[in-house]
Amino acid sequence: MKPCHPSLRSPSCPALPAEVWYHVFGFLSVEDKFSVRASCKSFRKLVDHGSLWRDWWVVLGFLRGKYNSKFWASLRRRKLHSVVVRRCRAKDWKQLAQSLPALTTLVLEHTSDARPDCLHGFPSLKRLAIRNSSTSVLLTAFTVCHPQQLTHLTLCDVTFPAITTGVFISAISQFINLTWLVCHKVGIRAMFAPMIRSILKCLPELKHLSLSTESLIVYPLASTEPLGGDGPPLSSLELRDCASDILPEDAMKLMPGLKSLALFRKLSKEGGGRTSVMWSLKTWLRALPQLSTLVVVRGPPVFTYVASIPASVTRLTLVSGFNTVDVEAVAARVPNLQHFHIDPWPHATQIPKLFPKLKSLKVRLGRIPEKAFLDLHQLQDLEILEVVGSHPHLSELAAKLRTLTKDRVQVVTSHHKRDVLSCSCVCQAY
Ligand SMILES: [Zn+2]
Repeated sequence: MKPCHPSLRSPSCPALPAEVWYHVFGFLSVEDKFSVRASCKSFRKLVDHGSLWRDWWVVLGFLRGKYNSKFWASLRRRKLHSVVVRRCRAKDWKQLAQSLPALTTLVLEHTSDARPDCLHGFPSLKRLAIRNSSTSVLLTAFTVCHPQQLTHLTLCDVTFPAITTGVFISAISQFINLTWLVCHKVGIRAMFAPMIRSILKCLPELKHLSLSTESLIVYPLASTEPLGGDGPPLSSLELRDCASDILPEDAMKLMPGLKSLALFRKLSKEGGGRTSVMWSLKTWLRALPQLSTLVVVRGPPVFTYVASIPASVTRLTLVSGFNTVDVEAVAARVPNLQHFHIDPWPHATQIPKLFPKLKSLKVRLGRIPEKAFLDLHQLQDLEILEVVGSHPHLSELAAKLRTLTKDRVQVVTSHHKRDVLSCSCVCQAY
């Protein structure tokens, strides 16, 4: 361990080796780190150490003019790799590239005047997202410095010039090493199976695919031959804005290797009333024997598909669409469930008895009775209880639960510490 730097020996900063301070500051939240940073020069230097800002990202808006050199220097000290850029003009791009050339993740929001070469100044770019923007050019291999280096691409609510599915597929196919692709509302209309088949054919490394289905056209499958190229099969599929029977009944036969399936039903303008049409979820789940994660947000009534939930599921999210009997039926299907997110709180349901192996539980408390909350201490393996929404006595209840579990259970409020690439259009749904 290095001796304490002389500049750190001051009354406000006790003489301890820097590594000790890094360790101590590592326990602080981002907000606390900013408070400590503002207290004195020595602490500012220590807190800006790169090890304390891993996975942290910053939003840069350029509306109020340029950022100064001190600002950029502090971001470089923290080894910042991810940035969200809003309303960036040509000269701002230049400044950003000169100031933070090592960026690996860039998110563009509300950019309508970005030039095709604006990303050329970032040779280390691996993850790119464009959200809520319109652009006069289609994203192509020429848009970024090293197209084969890109592993993550998110396009959400982006208006490109008039394009066909073929042109779109040919554009994204140039990012041949993508493992993560999100296409939400990009203005193309396509048939489900041919669209996915084309994507998987040209992106052999793809593991996660998220699509908004409102622009997909229902069409019977010509073949139920599993999709895929030479690489490992797609393992995670997310479908946003699902509306009634938008997809073919045997759609999942195309992707039998899926380990994660997430479905988000579109909110209706009339206030979310359930359509009378049942989804094909029952049939889909039967075709997915390896599924370990299932997310159904505002889906069809649980009783319509519960008997098809594979026993291999260990992580489950259910947002609306169930009653007490449904939850009991779910417990019978997946008795080994380890991670459960249920919203709203299922009143009159004995969660500890039904799901005794839970390690994490996420619930919306609402007007939950104190006894039901404290009964969660019976879950012997529970480590994290994530609470959604507010409760007037939450801190009191959390303290009681911690006491009952001898501090085994950590109660956290739903913080939505989102990854910089997460779409708000999906996060807000649950
Ligand atoms: Zn999105």
